[in-house]
Amino acid sequence: MLSLCRYLLQITQRKDFKPLAQTRGFFPMDYVGTIIRPPSEAHSLLLQISLGCSHNGCTFCGAYRDKRFRAKPIETVLGDIEKARTLLPSPTSLFLADGDALALPQMHLLKILCAIKDKLPWVKRINSYASPRSLLQKTTNQLIRLRKLGLSRIYLGLESGADEVLCSVNKGACASQIIEGGKKALDSGLYLSTSIILGLGGKRYSKLHAQKTAEALSILRPQHIAALTLMILPETPLAHSYAGKEFLPLSSHEILQELKWLVAGIDVDKAQFHANHASNHLHLSGKLPRDKENFIHLIDRACAGKLPLMPDYMRSL
Ligand code: SF4
Repeated sequence: MLSLCRYLLQITQRKDFKPLAQTRGFFPMDYVGTIIRPPSEAHSLLLQISLGCSHNGCTFCGAYRDKRFRAKPIETVLGDIEKARTLLPSPTSLFLADGDALALPQMHLLKILCAIKDKLPWVKRINSYASPRSLLQKTTNQLIRLRKLGLSRIYLGLESGADEVLCSVNKGACASQIIEGGKKALDSGLYLSTSIILGLGGKRYSKLHAQKTAEALSILRPQHIAALTLMILPETPLAHSYAGKEFLPLSSHEILQELKWLVAGIDVDKAQFHANHASNHLHLSGKLPRDKENFIHLIDRACAGKLPLMPDYMRSL
């Protein structure tokens, strides 16, 4: 679940950040704590229907450590939807925060999506993070019902295709479960965006991480793959492992090698591939398999020092 996945995501903790609906100054939406969203949701209306992450246990993630997962009262959410009716200009996409909105009971989600459809007819796409567990707990028919009410894009954090890595970071799901959850979203007609994290296995698992992640993506075949690069956040369990020298992070060149193994190993018919997040050392953006050779060429040039890498002080989540 953003993933990170949200890790994978853009943390809007800057003091000058205000979610979209607040920037208009027309009405105060009910936002609790830090709101995290994928970078691609920068122009979406942010509707917070739940708090936190249902797992909240990944060792690298600092996204929702200040929140216990729970649904927001339906009256609060319906009140926010009512307030958003006055929003101008009217964004055509809406993002359901926080980290695992799809974990809410089906009836709760149906009420919210029906209210959005009724009150905010200008919203054409409703997008959300989802954990593997929340996808697996819903039937395909339930997901289809949500899609018919406007649910469009699901952001699912694979992080790694290697169970050794997923276990070491306490992801709470193994690769086959994440793939099964993602396939269910695809079978329901939803657009699937999947994130992975370069460097997540450290030196110990680097090659395995790249190879197994490429394998998992080749099985899952999401429409969009987002590759982020690990950043060790203070006060996380991973930071403590790093301090204790139990976790050995990759150098920037080792990350590039891992990226090359990953790109070379992905076998899909058609997928957007983006490694252009603020955490990445080398930015790649294009389609697979169309751009595979070019990506590898760019990575080789970067490894040879012929392309500049993003300095660490400029990288962020
Ligand atoms: S699933 Fe893991 S990475 Fe995603 S938000 Fe929850 S704790 Fe963070």
